Amino acid sequence: MSETLQVTRRPTAESVEPHVGETMPPTAAPSARRKRIVIVGGGFAGIAAARALKRCDADVTLIDRRNHTIFQPLLYQVATAVLAPSEIAAPIRQLALKQKNLNVILGEVTGLDLETRWVDASCPGIGIRKFPFDYLLVATGTRPSYYGHDEFAEYAPGLKSLSDAETIRTKILSAYELADETDDENERVRQMTFVLVGAGATGVELAASIAHLATVTLRGQFRRIDPAKTSIFLVEGGKRILPTFAESLANKAARWLEKLGIKILTGVKVEKVDANGVVANGTRIPSATVLWTAGVAPSPLVKLLGAKSDRAGRISVGPSMNVPGIPNVFVVGDASSVVHDGRPVPGVAQAAIQQGRYVGRLIARELRGHQPKRPFRYFDKGNMAVVGKNFAILESGRLRMSGIITWFVWAVLHVMSLPQAENKWRVRIQWIWSYFTGQRSSRLIPEPPRAGN
Ligand SMILES: Cc1cc2nc3c(=O)[nH]c(=O)nc-3n(C[C@H](O)[C@H](O)[C@H](O)COP(=O)(O)OP(=O)(O)OC[C@H]3O[C@@H](n4cnc5c(N)ncnc54)[C@H](O)[C@@H]3O)c2cc1C
Repeated sequence: MSETLQVTRRPTAESVEPHVGETMPPTAAPSARRKRIVIVGGGFAGIAAARALKRCDADVTLIDRRNHTIFQPLLYQVATAVLAPSEIAAPIRQLALKQKNLNVILGEVTGLDLETRWVDASCPGIGIRKFPFDYLLVATGTRPSYYGHDEFAEYAPGLKSLSDAETIRTKILSAYELADETDDENERVRQMTFVLVGAGATGVELAASIAHLATVTLRGQFRRIDPAKTSIFLVEGGKRILPTFAESLANKAARWLEKLGIKILTGVKVEKVDANGVVANGTRIPSATVLWTAGVAPSPLVKLLGAKSDRAGRISVGPSMNVPGIPNVFVVGDASSVVHDGRPVPGVAQAAIQQGRYVGRLIARELRGHQPKRPFRYFDKGNMAVVGKNFAILESGRLRMSGIITWFVWAVLHVMSLPQAENKWRVRIQWIWSYFTGQRSSRLIPEPPRAGN
């Protein structure tokens, strides 16, 4: 993603090319025209907001740097060849089919001016386009954070986009090919060693899925190596894995991971990541595949809002999800920091959907001349993580569940939440096939692997 962000000046009338939804000059009296609502980001929060504005008498513009929305909870399955990228993603433009007041723009927002109410988007093949707004929703989510060690990114990809998932899948599958080809025993061990840095839900899910790939899917498919001899290290700087879950559930998950052969290292800080593996607490673990599942930081765009942020850089929003002191500019989803009932609202899909929907409805009410809605309230539906085949954990209020029934509930809920009917059917078929055969149909290495990777 481009890092060249800028706070723009107000454009002159001549410098602005008219485009759909922006034919009125920005200087026209606001009351004389339909209101313009710009949503930046077509993830969970942005799409929920756009949907909530469906019947609103206003022009809604949704800008995303990608043409698709991703169901991120299943990204780890693309990274481990269970699912194909298109099975967990849907074109954002599809929304415009049923929503006449919505215009979808492919472009990366690189600048904004809150005073004169414009955003700048860099659009492929066109260059910078300017979009005026009366209301602005920033729903740009997060990106992987290397906690000040951006140099690790070259060797340890994070998991946030479809291309990240494909990069990881290529790395994992290539490692087995290279292990099978080499005559050097140390290199073979290095290729068959996977290190995951960060034992939150993504690290746990990814580790368990790699274990299943090694012991079931790849069984009997190589002549010189036994994929079951794979080593998987799950390295966590904190005291325990799955810190957002109750300790009892995290312990159950840890036991299940150990049964799958995964080595859990807690209280261990990764000091270095390079082409040969990682150095953790002074000890080198040689590995050709290091994956970063440790942390996230908000997208850089939010800095342009010039608003107060929390330690992670997320914007501390007011009770209506607006930037404090700016009632028409909102930050929703993972890019925002909001406290509810004395506790921070977690960076999860449910929270992002509820926030996006809340702000969409709030704007719609305001445009109809109704009283503002009550402050945002988060309804916590619970938290789940899957630990390989037949085992998941669930925490919802006081309810704590784990095991195969929870795994089944996880599967049903995730299929139901996929973005479109086509995804739901395709994922169902893939899962049933994979469950009974142990095989994974997306085992593709687009480019031939290179030795020394
Ligand atoms: C691997 C992984 C697994 C997860 N698993 C779960 C889970 O099991 N359950 C759960 O509840 N949550 C899970 N989450 C968290 C959940 O996905 C997020 O909380 C949710 O996606 C946040 O929604 P959002 O709309 O704020 O951001 P996102 O969904 O990330 O959407 C942000 C959008 O903004 C766009 N964007 C960013 N910058 C710009 C820009 N400058 N210009 C234009 N567009 C831009 C991006 O392209 C993206 O489409 C997971 C996250 C990851 C990464």
